[in-house]
Amino acid sequence: RLHIGRIKTGCSEFDELMGGGIESQSITEIYGEFGSGKTQVAHQLAVNVQLPEEYGGLDGSVIIIDTENTFRPDRIKQMVEGRANELGLELDADEILKNIHVARAYNSNHQILLVDSALDLANELKDSGRPVRLLIVDSLTAHFRAEYIGRGTLADRQQKLNKHLHGLQRFANLNNAVVLVTNQVMSKPDVFFGDPTKPIGGHILGHTATFRLYIRKSKGDKRVVKLIDSPNLPEGEAVLSVTKDGVVD
Ligand code: ADP
Ligand code: MG
Repeated sequence: RLHIGRIKTGCSEFDELMGGGIESQSITEIYGEFGSGKTQVAHQLAVNVQLPEEYGGLDGSVIIIDTENTFRPDRIKQMVEGRANELGLELDADEILKNIHVARAYNSNHQILLVDSALDLANELKDSGRPVRLLIVDSLTAHFRAEYIGRGTLADRQQKLNKHLHGLQRFANLNNAVVLVTNQVMSKPDVFFGDPTKPIGGHILGHTATFRLYIRKSKGDKRVVKLIDSPNLPEGEAVLSVTKDGVVD
């Protein structure tokens, strides 16, 4: 078993909550309402994973499976500038963008297939000096939610999600990588089967994602992240801010 790596988030309270950063060889799920900051955290980790270890990174590159078309290169540039100023480092935003491999997933089957492509790319990059140490699926559940509406197909949906998560865990193990998945919850009951105020995948996701984080908006640019369950860390909360510079204290 390889030494577990950690990616720092940019917010020290958040890092402490996670025992020093987001762990490799695990799936971390971040769930919350629309606009709560899930994609912001994902973008920030895509930058931070590339930093040297002494600056909270893993000298790695990143693959993003983007299911909602919310990846924004310009937002990455802002965050790179934020990190460069904060850490007193010279960082090349174009270089950092080159190490972010983005794949759009058009439906849930495609999304699952992209994990195989991610494995292939990670193999190619293994000895490149920029190994893939982070895989993001943003959003894990949007396609599944849209495609499987109604009781009849709920079991199928869970089975497919389970298979997908199995593939993601395999990726995390084989590459000593952090896997971050996002999962949107609704603020009030909607047309979907089940309780849409709870993250979908419920039971199955609850047992597969090693770390589950609930993020919610607070005053101004503040967000509260709550660690819901973890194999080895106490439950607790952290306050972070999402600013122009990204995720900060
Ligand atoms: P979701 O949880 O739906 O993925 P996002 O991560 O996209 O939510 O969060 C969107 C929010 O992030 C915006 O409403 C805003 O508060 C904040 N945000 C996004 N971009 C910036 C920026 N450049 N500067 C400051 N805050 C930003
Ligand atoms: Mg989002």
